[in-house]
Amino acid sequence: MNLIFLGPPGAGKGTHAQRLMSELGIPQISTGDILRKAIKNETKTGLEAKRYIDAGQLVPDEVVINIVKERLQESDCASGYILDGFPRTVAQAEALDTFATIDAALNLSVPDDMIIRRLSGRRVCLTCGYTTHISQMNGNDVCPACGDKLIQRKDDMPETIQNRLSVYAAQTAPLVEYYDRKGLLRTVEGTGTVEENHAAVRKALNL
Ligand code: ADP
Ligand code: ZN
Repeated sequence: MNLIFLGPPGAGKGTHAQRLMSELGIPQISTGDILRKAIKNETKTGLEAKRYIDAGQLVPDEVVINIVKERLQESDCASGYILDGFPRTVAQAEALDTFATIDAALNLSVPDDMIIRRLSGRRVCLTCGYTTHISQMNGNDVCPACGDKLIQRKDDMPETIQNRLSVYAAQTAPLVEYYDRKGLLRTVEGTGTVEENHAAVRKALNL
């Protein structure tokens, strides 16, 4: 099954995509994680992407389209994948349609005030992509998945969060209609607990 996870930053795309990855045995492909890793490794793509990400802007379409196009050719994608954070513009969605067949687009819906609370307390591991909230950490900043340090992303600082919400509304929200028109949209409320939301995600995907 080839899936897309849509929704504003902090909606829980990464959390549910990671869970489904282990439940279904198909890879979760997060363009945000790939870009952050490139920044950490100071690759050419990373150096180019950094200023956009830190400012809460989108990285140029050509850059992310090429990343995804190459990634989907790897052998682990042959029996399905979950795209988390891609596409984020109509141009990316149109490009994706030329090299992939999508079975469903899951749209996680969460109100702005809850997003702001989640993002401002979010801590992530730049090595493996593990994500948590400061309220769950008991003052311990070691990644339980790989042992690296959990950090606050620059773009999760309050002054950048508002920017990202505006970018989402202007550039990404139109994709809800794009996939609805194709009959692929499945919308789920992402306001409950992780367990509740995950059950709703599975149900919406008939899993
Ligand atoms: P979140 O879902 O919390 O916004 P992501 O990790 O998906 O976080 O993305 C972080 C940042 O990476 C985005 O704000 C953007 O700058 C960049 N990015 C990730 N995916 C894309 C994409 N498909 N197109 C353009 N920029 C992207
Ligand atoms: Zn880790």
